[in-house]
Amino acid sequence: MKSNASLKEIAGILKAAQSILVFTHTNPDGDALGSAAALCRALRKMGKDAWAVFTDHIPEYLHFIDDEYFTWDIDLIKNQDVSICLDCSDYDRFPTLIDKFNDGKTKLCVDHHATADGFGDYYYVDSDAAATCELAYMLMVEMGAEIDKTIAESIYAGINTDTGSFRYSNATSQTHRITAELMEYGIDHTSINVKLYQTIGLAKMRIQAASLDKAEFLYDGKVALGFVTDEMLKKASATVDDADDNVDMLRNIEGVEMAVFLKEKGDNVKVSMRSKSYANVNEIAASLGGGGHAKAAGCTLEMSMEDAIETMKKALEDYWQN
Ligand code: 5GP
Ligand code: MN
Repeated sequence: MKSNASLKEIAGILKAAQSILVFTHTNPDGDALGSAAALCRALRKMGKDAWAVFTDHIPEYLHFIDDEYFTWDIDLIKNQDVSICLDCSDYDRFPTLIDKFNDGKTKLCVDHHATADGFGDYYYVDSDAAATCELAYMLMVEMGAEIDKTIAESIYAGINTDTGSFRYSNATSQTHRITAELMEYGIDHTSINVKLYQTIGLAKMRIQAASLDKAEFLYDGKVALGFVTDEMLKKASATVDDADDNVDMLRNIEGVEMAVFLKEKGDNVKVSMRSKSYANVNEIAASLGGGGHAKAAGCTLEMSMEDAIETMKKALEDYWQN
């Protein structure tokens, strides 16, 4: 574990602070938003001035997460006592907010990414944790925070999404124990699951169908490679967020061990990678300047879609033929 502080020490620093700004990675997911929302609410309940600062938008399917403490006003608090970065240990993953993070008198980082080096003055990185939300929960317990149903629901949302609804191998006994504790706060897990998985817009379904249609299956069907372009999105009246789950859709296919999905985003291509049982996609992502976990990783390629597909095919060849 690459940490230079314990959760207890980080809890102590937060307790001693008055103004706290929370940061997460770009394109925030359920774990990033859930951990930020929960920690801000817990800190507010302790009488502190706490906000989570964003520059990106929140994807539609995560709008149900408690956003009372989210702000896009970067100057809302100046010279904060503490900056804490959650679910992100890589400066490249929150480029627009690094300066603001560094304005904090004390800088903290709590994360669960395997590729995390840790940064800031005090960092706690546990790659065995399924989600940063697990660590945020343990941190709040260390702080002696008053956890309520709203906090528990934010934590549940992050654990649920990062474990693929408790299906992935990262879901440990600790994950289930924490989730059992969350249930004690009366969380409405059925409603959260409906919002996460059973409220899919038709445009999203259409872009899944279009992506499946264009997907290639390589190495005897072990690898599925798919992509979405602006043109495909326009045709389906979909947004790029609607394609976020397409990589999981490809992994779900019988015989597929590794799924790679490319999304056109302006002049860049965002690559998402997943594996099912034994392959390590983090190796491929890291070789291309990205990172993540063994079974879920990603990177951004600054090139055209055509070149990005070729780059990924080359990286796949290096991986599967060695
Ligand atoms: P996703 O494919 O859902 O965007 O990301 C899957 C996992 O890979 C997440 O844990 C995410 O943090 C990590 N990841 C995705 N893109 C990048 C990237 O560009 N750099 C790094 N270091 N990690 C990434
Ligand atoms: Mn996470």
